[in-house]
Amino acid sequence: MKSVNADTLARLAAIVGEATAITDPAAMVHYMREWRDKWVGTSPLVLRPESTQQVSDILKIAHETNTKIVPQSGNTGLVGGGIPNGEVLLSLDRMTKIIAVDALDNSITVQAGCTLKSVQDAADAMERLFPLSLASEGSCRMGGNLATNAGGVNVLAYGNARDLCLGLEVVLADGRVWNGLRSLRKDNTGYDLKNLFIGSEGTLGIITAAVLKLFPKPSRHDTALVAVPSPHAALDLLALLKAVAGSRLTAFEIIPRIGIEFTTRHMNAQEPFAQAYPWYVLAEVINNPEEELATVINNAFVKGLALDAIVAQSEAQRQAFWALRENMSESQKFEGGSIKHDVSVPVSKVAVFLDQAITAIEKFMPGARPVPFGHLGDGNIHFNVSQPVGMDKAAYLSRWSDMNDLVHGIVLKLGGSISAEHGIGVLKRDEMARIKSPVEMDLMRTMKQALDPKGILNPGKVLA
Ligand SMILES: Cc1cc2nc3c(=O)[nH]c(=O)nc-3n(C[C@H](O)[C@H](O)[C@H](O)COP(=O)(O)OP(=O)(O)OC[C@H]3O[C@@H](n4cnc5c(N)ncnc54)[C@H](O)[C@@H]3O)c2cc1C
Repeated sequence: MKSVNADTLARLAAIVGEATAITDPAAMVHYMREWRDKWVGTSPLVLRPESTQQVSDILKIAHETNTKIVPQSGNTGLVGGGIPNGEVLLSLDRMTKIIAVDALDNSITVQAGCTLKSVQDAADAMERLFPLSLASEGSCRMGGNLATNAGGVNVLAYGNARDLCLGLEVVLADGRVWNGLRSLRKDNTGYDLKNLFIGSEGTLGIITAAVLKLFPKPSRHDTALVAVPSPHAALDLLALLKAVAGSRLTAFEIIPRIGIEFTTRHMNAQEPFAQAYPWYVLAEVINNPEEELATVINNAFVKGLALDAIVAQSEAQRQAFWALRENMSESQKFEGGSIKHDVSVPVSKVAVFLDQAITAIEKFMPGARPVPFGHLGDGNIHFNVSQPVGMDKAAYLSRWSDMNDLVHGIVLKLGGSISAEHGIGVLKRDEMARIKSPVEMDLMRTMKQALDPKGILNPGKVLA
């Protein structure tokens, strides 16, 4: 990576002012390290603009001087997309204004640096719901959520970040500002530009603000933890619940026994049942007519789909169930190396995928411990595999791509995707290029060339 000349760095820093242009490596550590320390970056300069105008001024200079820029919002991404490799880092973390909330329109307009939690809270204050929900919601920011098309636990009912976005403001690679901050539910005036930028991981433009959809705040949540004999039974339970609750079923998450062992061992969580079961489902239904969830669960017992079940009797108990699920990733850190797969298959194939992938891992590396968990309701499983007990962590992690090949091979045979919600970044860039058809790759490169002809935005991410 060619170093940026001092004059350009000084011009860029002058835009945001000395206090928010970081050049001291010790002060920029927070921006350089990925959450799990899988990537540690370097940068000559971290810029923290406070307005769209400042972002535009930065991009104008970058374009003129061929200076590469890596955008970053909350730095919770899991594919290395926001970590610089010697480029200037542009952080959105000072652009945190809630610009407007319109209860009648059911929309909220926010700057890209708002944390997801702050957007949820602003909606809640207006008796509305912003349903995007991820375990990282206190730290991730809306610009990053849209740039990665984040998913999370409520996709089943509300869709992913793309489905929740009505309009965008984007600073283009040459510094021009596209103001698409519209709150229209219908707009068929030509190409849908906002959907080009959503999921583009900072390679096509910098998202500076967004208009998002709000929903009525649920009047009640009913949450059940159900022990099930197998993922096949979990799928049948999903069908039972969907038939009764339809779109009021907002979450349907699967947790394996080993996941409960990890969270109770490391995260101060309580064992939920008196005995251990092989699999668990966390299901949530909103605006539930009295006893509906209990009736479905009773039916599941009769059909042999449920082995045990608890319906949360208080908000505290509901939060305790969710903590079991939300702490799944964190708890794996205490068990040594973990090789990750964020994959999706058609919902009907999730159980077959789990059978095949678990068997394949057992054969590939005896003692390796699959911890597959996540959004069974929308076909997205985080197929994480913890290292065998006692194995050297580095030796285990050196098998990352071999294991990926094995698991992704099964996913692709089942018609699935190797990146369900985390994106491509650098982690899956080369693999994506091997998997996608030449036509798809050509279309993606054509878009990159059209929107960022000098290749200054997030170089080396998504596309080589
Ligand atoms: C504990 C934990 C749980 C998670 N759970 C989920 C989950 O359930 N579902 C899910 O989808 N993800 C999940 N993630 C991943 C991560 O939180 C999401 O990808 C999130 O959307 C990233 O947001 P961010 O603000 O941290 O983005 P960053 O990490 O800052 O950036 C992510 C990517 O977007 C680009 N980018 C950032 N801001 C902008 C911008 N303003 N304009 C253009 N490009 C930009 C970056 O260059 C990078 O490529 C989880 C992460 C953690 C640590």
